[in-house]
Amino acid sequence: MRSLLMRNPIAIATAWIGIYLAIILSPLLMLLLYPTAPGRGFWLEFSVALGFIGLAMMVLQFALTARIRTFESAYGIDVILQFHRYTSVVAFLLILVHPIILFVTDPETLQLLNFFEAPWRARAAVIATLALTLLVVTSIWRKKLNIPYEPWRLWHGIFAVTAVGLGLAHGFGVGNYLSLEWKIALWSLFGLAALWMLIFVRLIKPWQMTQHPYLVEKVVPERGDVWTLVLRPRGHNGFTFQPGQFAWLTLNISPFRMREHPFSMASSGDQEDCLEFGIKAVGDFTNQIKTVKPGTVAFLDGPYGVFTFDRYWDAAGFVMIAGGIGITPIMSMLRTAADRQDDRPFSLIYSSSTWDDITYQEELEELKEKLDLTVVHVLRNAEDDWSGETGYVDQDLLERYIPIHRGSRHYFICANPKMMDQVERALHQLEVPVTHLHMEHYNLV
Ligand SMILES: Cc1cc2nc3c(=O)[nH]c(=O)nc-3n(C[C@H](O)[C@H](O)[C@H](O)COP(=O)(O)OP(=O)(O)OC[C@H]3O[C@@H](n4cnc5c(N)ncnc54)[C@H](O)[C@@H]3O)c2cc1C
Repeated sequence: MRSLLMRNPIAIATAWIGIYLAIILSPLLMLLLYPTAPGRGFWLEFSVALGFIGLAMMVLQFALTARIRTFESAYGIDVILQFHRYTSVVAFLLILVHPIILFVTDPETLQLLNFFEAPWRARAAVIATLALTLLVVTSIWRKKLNIPYEPWRLWHGIFAVTAVGLGLAHGFGVGNYLSLEWKIALWSLFGLAALWMLIFVRLIKPWQMTQHPYLVEKVVPERGDVWTLVLRPRGHNGFTFQPGQFAWLTLNISPFRMREHPFSMASSGDQEDCLEFGIKAVGDFTNQIKTVKPGTVAFLDGPYGVFTFDRYWDAAGFVMIAGGIGITPIMSMLRTAADRQDDRPFSLIYSSSTWDDITYQEELEELKEKLDLTVVHVLRNAEDDWSGETGYVDQDLLERYIPIHRGSRHYFICANPKMMDQVERALHQLEVPVTHLHMEHYNLV
């Protein structure tokens, strides 16, 4: 069984979904196996069941966001975070429907909303639901509400702990379904597991990072307002990564402060002595990269991600589609392929603003000498004398450059969200098999 799982990522991914479903449905099994006293009516039992499933889903959110490598390597971080978003909304609705059913079927229970007179278990439920509402609203509309990422992340954690902690307290306080000792033990274990994951992410992981520091070796300007940050491990061997993966970077502050940013490694996966990142200046953190001095201390948490051609070693060739800074993981794959003298065909369709903005322009030319590589530059704001492709990477353009036998290659796309959506739709229209399409989203949050 284990060797089957090791060989088959789909089996691993399916096994995790099975475990997830088993955990969130376990409260129902408990209700079925050990029903409480008869006469409580279908709607009451139903609403309790929904509340328990919602709570179990909320507890599992801590596991989804704890960057556990086994989950992460089965799905990739963007799929996990997408799942985290959707399941949070489902859990929120289940938890919200739980009291609504009670209020509708037994209006007397509305008194439980009287915060000052209600028993503490009801007050815990009210605060938990408010925290959950704030959690969902500030996450879905963070950008519209103009909430910067760092304070949002801090409050996201506070709301989550409040919602789950008080949700569990409410369950214990009501007691109907949590009166037996083994049930108390099981749900306590559930809560403790969530707490452990929080401690792991906030304390243990940062501590591990302090034991493996890096030093900035140099910062090199590139075209397109991008800066190459070169890091060298200090007193350890660093980590190996598959080209296309990324790491969370903390620069010049303690990792306990949790102010880390994700960046794809741009260097070759086979270059072991140092790591390179190509960082585009877009905001508070990235604008400072150009001023970072050699010798500055950095910390990395990684590698993460499944956006790598190493997972498709049997592919006949690759089509890489990059927009702007989305070139970095693709550059890592091309550099690695060159180091490995990979003789398979590579095509790169690369969208940039102007000719002068094309990051790694000169190196891509050199890579053409080392690889079977064709590069198609697509410029959005081309000069009059430019005779190449212009405008957007759309279906017509892709049709001209991708092989007729669509399934003969694997496709890697990394760009801004709008371009990713357009390219994905176009490739579907062009009948590229969905199993051959791999995407890296830079807008996780
Ligand atoms: C998997 C992945 C790989 C990436 N690789 C690269 C790369 O190789 N090169 C590159 O230039 N950029 C990369 N990015 C994007 C990079 O992480 C953001 O541009 C950077 O974090 C912005 O920080 P800022 O403070 O400068 O900008 P801000 O203006 O503060 O943020 C701009 C936007 O970036 C996102 N962001 C900000 N801080 C974080 C954070 N700590 N964690 C996650 N997202 C955040 C938010 O959506 C935010 O709205 C990658 C992102 C992801 C998810």
